[in-house]
Amino acid sequence: EPPITLRSLSEAIGIKANQLMRRMMDLTGQLVTINTTLDEDAAIELALEFGVELAIVREETAEDQFDRLLEDARAEETAPEHLQPRPPIVTILGHVDHGKTSLLDYIRKANVVASETGGITQHIGAYQVEQDGRRVTFVDTPGHEAFTAMRARGANVTDIAVVVVAADDGVMPQTKEAIAHAKAAGVQIVVALNKIDLPGAEGNVNRILGELSAEGLIPEEYGGDVPVVRTSAVSGQGVDDLLATLATIAEVYEYKANPDRPATGTCLEAEISEGRGVIATVLVQDGTLRVGDAIVCGEGFGRVRALFDDQGRSIQEAGPSTPVEISGLDAVPTAGEKFAVLEDISQAREVAETRRTRSRGASLGETKAITLENLYSKM
Ligand code: GDP
Ligand code: MG
Repeated sequence: EPPITLRSLSEAIGIKANQLMRRMMDLTGQLVTINTTLDEDAAIELALEFGVELAIVREETAEDQFDRLLEDARAEETAPEHLQPRPPIVTILGHVDHGKTSLLDYIRKANVVASETGGITQHIGAYQVEQDGRRVTFVDTPGHEAFTAMRARGANVTDIAVVVVAADDGVMPQTKEAIAHAKAAGVQIVVALNKIDLPGAEGNVNRILGELSAEGLIPEEYGGDVPVVRTSAVSGQGVDDLLATLATIAEVYEYKANPDRPATGTCLEAEISEGRGVIATVLVQDGTLRVGDAIVCGEGFGRVRALFDDQGRSIQEAGPSTPVEISGLDAVPTAGEKFAVLEDISQAREVAETRRTRSRGASLGETKAITLENLYSKM
């Protein structure tokens, strides 16, 4: 949005710029020039000083469009007839060495169909598995810190948090933190009581259920609403139960999205790859992302040149809850940054360039626009 300067205000309300400047200096006690900028409220007040009622009408800028797309995606209820079920997005959290990575690996190996070349390489930090026709998306990039960092940036990429607790250890400091973060995020919580294969593990179960209760997670078997699934990432015991539990929660909460709209979602990780340019792993959260789409993510923009799924296969489109690797951005976005597909590439460029100018301006300590408070600071 173009800033309101004394010059543009003068033109808009037909009062000489000199008069505006003088009045403004009287009011603020600051030196002003014809190029001094005002925020909307200050402009309205200053115009009122001259008896002019100023109405500020803004056309939708590319940046507004970006925000609106994200908002529409959030306001799901607005078009329930377009909504379709989507897989739940699951993050695994817990104390170090309790088996988060092992559990994720086991789930992936047991449920992802190996490609013809054999072997399953994990290409991106998120993947989707299917069991009995029900799909679940796991995000394993976040881990604990990234989960917090993303939440701090306002990104919510989780429907369900699986809190892993090793049965030979119990609730530890990072378990408590994980529980606190999951609660703050308002996501559903499932506990995986892992390493249940270890000798003596069974004997600890009651104590650990008590520890969980003390953290406010009342296990179902204690009459609460938190499923506690015994698992082993070594033998695979309970892993099917865990997936079934996640799918059941998804059915109860009916996670939905509209695949028939411009895609929006969140960047999970990004880097510059030699020969391929900027490669970003993004999670599509609403809409469908397609090759050729004009996309903005953070300060980067571009046309989606290629899409790769979680097994590195080239695909043409990716619907809601799909993690996908994209190329085509011209700058590396930060994890947690939102993306949206805009109507055309010029709008995508406009948003990205506005953001770059703004962050350059911020680092140069650009002078702030006059606001209502400092307009009347002398009064
Ligand atoms: P993370 O730090 O939570 O990601 O934990 P890891 O997945 O790296 O596991 C830590 C250690 O526990 C590794 O040596 C794993 O092999 C081991 N481990 C993980 N899950 C299990 C399990 O279910 N049973 C047993 N016996 N060992 C496990
Ligand atoms: Mg790990």
